Amino acid sequence: MEFKHTDPLEKIILTSTPWPLYSRPSIQIGTLKSYLKKKFPDLKVDAHHFYLKVAEDIGYRRYQAISERTWLAETIYAALLYPERHEHIEKIFYKQTAGKSLLRKIPFEILTKQIQKISETFIHTIDWGEYDLAGFSICLCQLTASLYFIRQVKKLFPNLFIVVGGSMFTGEATQNLFKFFPEIDIAINGEGELPLSRLITYLKDPQCKEISPSEGIITPKSDEKNTPAEFHQMNSLSDLVPPDYDDYFELLQSFGPDRIFFPTLPMEISRGCWWRRKKEDQKYTGCAFCNLNLQWAGYRSKKPEQVVSEIDHLTTKYKTLSVAFMDNLLPLKTSRDIFNDISKLGKDFRLFGEIRATTSGPVLKAMQAAGMQEVQIGIEALSTRLLKKLNKGTTTIQNIEIMKHCEMMGIKNSSNLILYFPGSDPKDVDETLRNLDFVIWFRPLKIVHFWLGLGSPVWQHPESFGLRSVFNHRNYTAIFPPDVYKAMRFIIQSYQGDLGSQRKLWKPVKKKLKSWKKSYGELHRSPRHENILSFRDGRNFLIIRQKRLNGQSLTHRLEGTSRAIYLFCWKHRSLKKILARFPSVAADRIEPFLKMMVDKKLMFQENNNYLSLAVPAKRKFHEQ
Ligand code: SF4
Repeated sequence: MEFKHTDPLEKIILTSTPWPLYSRPSIQIGTLKSYLKKKFPDLKVDAHHFYLKVAEDIGYRRYQAISERTWLAETIYAALLYPERHEHIEKIFYKQTAGKSLLRKIPFEILTKQIQKISETFIHTIDWGEYDLAGFSICLCQLTASLYFIRQVKKLFPNLFIVVGGSMFTGEATQNLFKFFPEIDIAINGEGELPLSRLITYLKDPQCKEISPSEGIITPKSDEKNTPAEFHQMNSLSDLVPPDYDDYFELLQSFGPDRIFFPTLPMEISRGCWWRRKKEDQKYTGCAFCNLNLQWAGYRSKKPEQVVSEIDHLTTKYKTLSVAFMDNLLPLKTSRDIFNDISKLGKDFRLFGEIRATTSGPVLKAMQAAGMQEVQIGIEALSTRLLKKLNKGTTTIQNIEIMKHCEMMGIKNSSNLILYFPGSDPKDVDETLRNLDFVIWFRPLKIVHFWLGLGSPVWQHPESFGLRSVFNHRNYTAIFPPDVYKAMRFIIQSYQGDLGSQRKLWKPVKKKLKSWKKSYGELHRSPRHENILSFRDGRNFLIIRQKRLNGQSLTHRLEGTSRAIYLFCWKHRSLKKILARFPSVAADRIEPFLKMMVDKKLMFQENNNYLSLAVPAKRKFHEQ
């Protein structure tokens, strides 16, 4: 694209608009800011976490309630972006807020006016004219807000060079972007460090008159020619310096004392997903529902020493101990070292991370010792048949094992169970229902309804999953004018398929999950935390205690070899291994014992693999 050089580029602004979680600075703009400052020491980079200001203004609770639901978040700025569509947009807002009294207290019209006022004030308090480039990081829930800001700012400053990036505009989602949003000059595809640095280098060069589309940089020309979007990624993450969150903390400090809180610091150890690695003869890689491939290719992770020094630096600088690892999944090989070294820092961290169900007990233990208090595990299903369809590469017994380990270590497990996955059938549901009986001892999973992500394997191969057609999610028809809806591809997609029958099919699972949640809550009501199914070890005997809703516990005693087998199966073991471990006991005595334990739901069995379900009453970690 052609552009006019006024002065060489000196100052840029990076903005994050509502509705990300207000309690965390934006890792996207924080990381870009520190990287660009290191690369161009004379460049002034300002970062604006405008969403925090909105949260303070409308109240944190209300902000959070909106930010937790994509369609709520998107409707508010949609009504400002397309006031003529107010009526359609409002309907979605009210549909999504059904039963939410906090959000129903203020009419949609008043709420949008309030947000408009804060947004306009923000836009007018910044002298956008002093910047040579404005970058907008646009992730989930930020689509309409960012487009609104871009439109308003460009109206006031037509010469301001506007760049967008983030998960909302990658790959096919940039199709026709410049046609409908001519205020945008460039879109960055995938991670921003290298493409944005190249862009800044061009813009700093007075001889440069045109920016051509190239790896990671999408221009109106690439759009016209339909050039496929590519990435320009860093080969290694060792060039990254810790994110700069100063602007977020300065803004927070400007609030009244009753509005100040201790934020969570986002950090990344890795980028991409190692489970997505290309394998020969496979139609697709990675989980069938995941569209992460739109943002990254491959997997890279930081060295343990880089991670440890970064967490130490950030928590010392910002004086807060909550850290959320934003990785799609933590590294397999180095996690144990990383978390062992984090423990050695001697800080009482409160950590959160996303992990795979195959994370071993010892690695999880290292995480817990370092301060991991909450994890999201890629559980997704409790049926191995369904896990295969999801291409998770895991089995139900692995899922149950890690659920048990979390319970045992006191790590909050906030994982999901996906319902309505296209092509799931009565056998998957039956298996799920059966297996649910074995996990009622552990923290309940959250129900998530399958949604179709642009670029995911299901979207790419709809016929393999029984989908007849795929198209933009219907809610976008209310938000965007018909020509935009038809010509652009949005990240959230809809499909014609088996959704109606899926809803019926999964009803009993929903019912069971509801009662699981209820009983788990009731059994944990007492102030003293006690696991529902636990055991006490008497060295040559073992007492298993099962808490019950009627207040009367059920106990079971295992003696001698029975005790030893039960302890041996603290992680899942094959029958072959069990028999080999206890050669003096005949198979025809071991197998009935295992069967009895499974019948009592004290052990789980899958394909001749066995897992004990009770956790030690005294928190200790069994590794045998
Ligand atoms: S869901 Fe997680 S493990 Fe699966 S492909 Fe996506 S990032 Fe990888």
